[in-house]
Amino acid sequence: MYMIKTWFSPNYYANNGSMSKLPAIAESIKNKGFAELVAPTANISETYKKLAKLHDADYVRAVMDGAGRLAASNELEWSTDLRDGVILMNAGMLEAAQDALARETITANLAQGFHHALPERGMGFCTFNGLALVAAQMPDKRIFVLDADEHQGNGTKAFVKRLPNLWNYTIYGTYFGGDGKVARNWDRKVGNWAQHQAALAEAFTRILDVNPDIILYQAGVDCFEKEISGVMLTEEQLRERDYNVFDFAHRMGYPLTFVAAGGYTPDRIRLHTNTWDMAKQVLDDEIIVF
Ligand SMILES: [Zn+2]
Repeated sequence: MYMIKTWFSPNYYANNGSMSKLPAIAESIKNKGFAELVAPTANISETYKKLAKLHDADYVRAVMDGAGRLAASNELEWSTDLRDGVILMNAGMLEAAQDALARETITANLAQGFHHALPERGMGFCTFNGLALVAAQMPDKRIFVLDADEHQGNGTKAFVKRLPNLWNYTIYGTYFGGDGKVARNWDRKVGNWAQHQAALAEAFTRILDVNPDIILYQAGVDCFEKEISGVMLTEEQLRERDYNVFDFAHRMGYPLTFVAAGGYTPDRIRLHTNTWDMAKQVLDDEIIVF
């Protein structure tokens, strides 16, 4: 019986709307036996140096100091807890991806707040782009981001233009911005489950074409029907989405690291827990017929 090795620290926490859910999800996935929680070993200052190479250095410095307009560009109230939590979540992302690659399996980082972060600033509750960080720190590996959050992964798209080993396929209901067509990036707006399934099938085709070393899966649950959502998936459809992604990666032999990402309703702890449930079922070779 597998448990999903999941990077998490009690310091992945700040007392604001976006990050405050993470300890409750950690408790839930641990209690249900879905996850083995592992703390990042990298410290704040070494991770800070990596982030200063990924993002514009003056932006990273502004977040460190908490000073000025850039420090609040993530639309969150700055605090040392928020800053340190965000940096640790980026450390955990790298370690979770390294472990998935080393063991050729599925791992997780119990994190959120990556995919809107742009090279020059934060945006939409996202500070530093941990997905792009994996590509920047592994230049000889091909990194494919599969983003199924309600919101389009505009920050990752901006990094695709800087990082030649990064691909981004974003299935979303709400557009966030960025240039039009970008090579190695696909924006797919969907408005129901059938369209979502079609986009996911196309994403799998693209992944097979690219043949990446690892898939990073942004498993947002803010496309749930009770959210302010353009995709409007039911809980059962979210479970099927996750199962299909994990099953594809597992069958095709692609290492995969997933992140919790968006989810804002009172249902979110259960919905995120379902993602770990699906990953575990796939690794346990349980066949689920939806
Ligand atoms: Zn979102």
